[in-house]
Amino acid sequence: MELYNLTDKKKYEVNIPSGIGEYYSTCPVCSHLRKPINQKKRCFSWNRTKEVGHCYHCGSSFVEFIESEKLKDKNEKHINDSITQHINYINPKYLNLSLGLDSNFGTFLKSIFNKDELKTIIDDYQLGMTKDNSVIYWYIDKENKIRSGKIMQYDPKTGKRRRDEPECSPNNGCSPNITDSINSNGRTRRFAPTWVHSELKKQNILPNDWQLTQCLFGEHLLIKYPEKSVMLVESEKTAIIMSLYQPSFNWMATGGLNNLTENKIYPVRKCEITAFADLKCFELWQSKAERINLNIGSKIELSNMLEERATKEERELGLDIADFFLSEK
Ligand SMILES: [Zn+2]
Repeated sequence: MELYNLTDKKKYEVNIPSGIGEYYSTCPVCSHLRKPINQKKRCFSWNRTKEVGHCYHCGSSFVEFIESEKLKDKNEKHINDSITQHINYINPKYLNLSLGLDSNFGTFLKSIFNKDELKTIIDDYQLGMTKDNSVIYWYIDKENKIRSGKIMQYDPKTGKRRRDEPECSPNNGCSPNITDSINSNGRTRRFAPTWVHSELKKQNILPNDWQLTQCLFGEHLLIKYPEKSVMLVESEKTAIIMSLYQPSFNWMATGGLNNLTENKIYPVRKCEITAFADLKCFELWQSKAERINLNIGSKIELSNMLEERATKEERELGLDIADFFLSEK
């Protein structure tokens, strides 16, 4: 197998037998440079599941190298896959019924931004809300079809995510309509994110075999503002807040650390993409991005702005770019 070393940008031929799990061997970069007694040390490991390699001695990171010819085939296969792949959608009436900024997250935004600024948010991101003031982040693809909506609860004052809390804390007033979010002990109120399609399944409105095919949050902006380049972040909240500070870009979110994948980037692969990893996650996103760029020909560049300016405390908190902008307002 031909490996590409992300560190020195060179290719190396390595024989990796098929199998499962981790494979250990000598490193193609540094083994021959080591003292004779250490040259046989298996400092290189290849993770067959994640298809990434690492050498603990010289620190090199590897992915499989795919030539441009094979890449072309792979891309065509990709396109065929996505045409034949059956995608389930949500009826737009649910989105229309949910639109509004009276969620707790909306209340937080209203405390910082003015009406005109917030109108753009509703127009662009189609923010929704539930009866218990959770926000709904609608995932709309570039065909303007709705994949689903992610339902999340925030603290209206701080704009931080709400975590699970005791059922009868003064914070929630023991409202009777929360029973469905109480666990079987009846003691904890859960605020873990949920999805519109899951709720519709529970109500037997959607069939049980309905499946989510997640896209990037904000993918539909590509059609609305094709001239804008893409800024990619992890959380939906960060994308929304940053679009208020920096409206000349299309801010999109992966909706999770591990959602930076080829499938999600594929629809935007021709755009210039700058990714802002949350602090603590820079290296992970860096290696994912380089791998995706190699495999589907995208042009994701990671910004190291946060890495450069963050203090040790900020780094430990794992802050994101919106936290920096908010703290300056
Ligand atoms: Zn090495």
